[in-house]
Amino acid sequence: MIPYGKQEITQQDIDSVVTVLQSDFLTQGPKVPEFENLLSVHTGATHALAVNSATSALHIACLALGLGEGDWLWTSPITFVASANCGLYCGAQIDFVDIDPDTYNMCPKRLEEKLIKAKAEDKLPKVVVPVHLCGQPCDMEAIGRLAKEYGFKVIEDASHAIGGQYHGKPIGNCEFSDITVFSFHPVKIITTAEGGAVVTNSKVLANKMALLRSHGITRDTAQMEGPSHGAWYYQQVDLGFNYRMTELQGALGVTQIQRLEQFIKARHYLANRYNDLLKALPVILPYQLENTYSGLHLYVIRLKLDEISLTHQQVFNALRENGIGVNLHYIPIHTQPYYQKMGFNVGDFPVAEQYYREAISLPMYHTMTVAQQDEVMQVLTRILAAKVQN
Ligand SMILES: *Cc1c(COP(=O)(O)O)cnc(C)c1O
Repeated sequence: MIPYGKQEITQQDIDSVVTVLQSDFLTQGPKVPEFENLLSVHTGATHALAVNSATSALHIACLALGLGEGDWLWTSPITFVASANCGLYCGAQIDFVDIDPDTYNMCPKRLEEKLIKAKAEDKLPKVVVPVHLCGQPCDMEAIGRLAKEYGFKVIEDASHAIGGQYHGKPIGNCEFSDITVFSFHPVKIITTAEGGAVVTNSKVLANKMALLRSHGITRDTAQMEGPSHGAWYYQQVDLGFNYRMTELQGALGVTQIQRLEQFIKARHYLANRYNDLLKALPVILPYQLENTYSGLHLYVIRLKLDEISLTHQQVFNALRENGIGVNLHYIPIHTQPYYQKMGFNVGDFPVAEQYYREAISLPMYHTMTVAQQDEVMQVLTRILAAKVQN
């Protein structure tokens, strides 16, 4: 099976992890700060904190922004459930903003309409989480302008987008947001096995998130109440968690991020090749927002179902049965049973639901060969040409 995504682990990655295993620090040593420094250099954000997953990153980002009971968090319905669940962890309520039919990202027009209504009802969101789906940056300038006008905070969920650019600047520089979150799960662009990070230009937010990552405990006398009792002393000044990244993961992060540019170039080569090869087929190709460079975590096509004899599900199944490990990103969150119990209904976000009925993520990862890509094309071409047998 050709998978939809796959990590690359080199001898250099293995050696750096083994070196950590033989060192004094398996956690809380020098490798995580080294990785954080590289994240900061790459993104241009002044502060970077690595954690054990993007889910943890989203949680502490929400808490640092003061999200709590009685507040609203808005995100896109087309994302992984973690982008919304982080609000629930904080006791906030969730709502969604329908997607743009071309970019599949949160639509700034729908966002503005919803904000106007929410303002009249006194239900404005405290936090909005735009998600750079497939690595394609959201229209951050528009979202940033609305954030100023309506007074909400912005967390960019850039789990798909490290290495991408918006208006010539790296994703994660937080020009139009308060905090940006990355994921280093193996299917993402670079990996630390499990892992994630937050980046921000705010020292206050960075300090808060550093506390929340490690039990709310500090050894910094400047953050303590009253004097230190001695060299052993620490204080718990907030309720935090153990969301720390290990040194093994940090070491992997260091060697992976050094190859980031090369990974993104390989993804662009394959995506451009798909764009050419797929032109002749009854599918909608990915659209690229002007003045952006995608991290290209995913390559999503939409089936033109009125030009195909098979159903979406039949095409999907036939691809899998023929060794093409396609996937579907994502099931609209508001249609999940857990969210339906909160009162969401099928039909609430029609553009997202239409997307879901047509989308397929084709295999794409930076070590994928041209021969593997040709195999995907051959199988897909054959399946889309098939006539239904009666
Ligand atoms: C993968 C992903 C997450 C969660 O990442 P983990 O590191 O697995 O916790 C969150 N949001 C999006 C959009 C993702 O793709």
